Amino acid sequence: MATFGNLTDRLADTFKNLRGKGKLSPADIDGTVREIRRALLDADVALDVVKLFTGNVRERALGDEVNKALNPAQQVVQIVNEELIGILGGEQRRLQFAKNPPTVIMLAGLQGAGKTTLAGKLAKWLAGEGHTPLLVAADLQRPNAVNQLQVVGEQAGVQVFAPEPGNGVGNPVKVSKDAIKFAKDKLHDVVIVDTAGRLGVDADMMKQAADIRKAVDPDEVLFVIDAMIGQDAVATAKAFQEGVDFTGVVLTKLDGDARGGAALSVASVTGRPIIFASTGEGLDDFEPFHPERMASRILD
Ligand code: GDP
Repeated sequence: MATFGNLTDRLADTFKNLRGKGKLSPADIDGTVREIRRALLDADVALDVVKLFTGNVRERALGDEVNKALNPAQQVVQIVNEELIGILGGEQRRLQFAKNPPTVIMLAGLQGAGKTTLAGKLAKWLAGEGHTPLLVAADLQRPNAVNQLQVVGEQAGVQVFAPEPGNGVGNPVKVSKDAIKFAKDKLHDVVIVDTAGRLGVDADMMKQAADIRKAVDPDEVLFVIDAMIGQDAVATAKAFQEGVDFTGVVLTKLDGDARGGAALSVASVTGRPIIFASTGEGLDDFEPFHPERMASRILD
């Protein structure tokens, strides 16, 4: 995966240096852990996460956990793989559906993170799984946002609920509530609420998102984050966690070639699972997130 290309190469070089060695000495392990630490930091993985990760790798590599079927170098690779799966959230976490439909999914995140695009992707994917999603245009901040969602809805073949034109600046809380009533009447079983973002973390935006959250009582609040935002990822994620308290994360733009390590930190620092990954601008460039698959792509 392009975003992790450099990290993949660096880890591969580290492991190559271990190949052909017999039993690894503590000095070998320390050297390896130092290289892994540098590779992760250079990829923008947050310092706390790097410390936790390398601490675990070192402890396990030095310990007497021995898999007889593997040589020492392979054992280190296996440990790194398992620890990567760990920071990515461990088990796959699927989208949760409500017992009594409609399931309400709210999207939150900075402007440009990819929320509106994701709304379309999610709607198309859900429709393909036999659901009857309704997209809700509750981003009334950006002049073109409602229109953009309508375009995306049309491409996805999914209905969009939007405020009436000319209805003043609009009230996103009211639009969201009306949309849920509409969904119940028209038997849409999933409601996807697209909310407004700003370029940076902003108190008004956060309050609006929190108000929408309170009004619609969502089953999932997905924090959408651009994998290319670098070191800001952790601070942004923490601000959204405090401001709206999300239930899951969506990583977008994993097709980019920037360092994606910060995005690797988000699940670990917030304790919230990554549920989907977005890998392009097209509506099909989207997949449920599997920590195991992502780890093996990184170590490929
Ligand atoms: P929003 O402001 O959060 O609603 O963000 P948008 O959905 O409008 O997306 C912002 C820009 O990022 C648009 O140009 C999208 O086409 C683009 N975009 C969204 N997701 C992805 C992705 O996974 N990969 C790439 N390369 N571009 C994306």
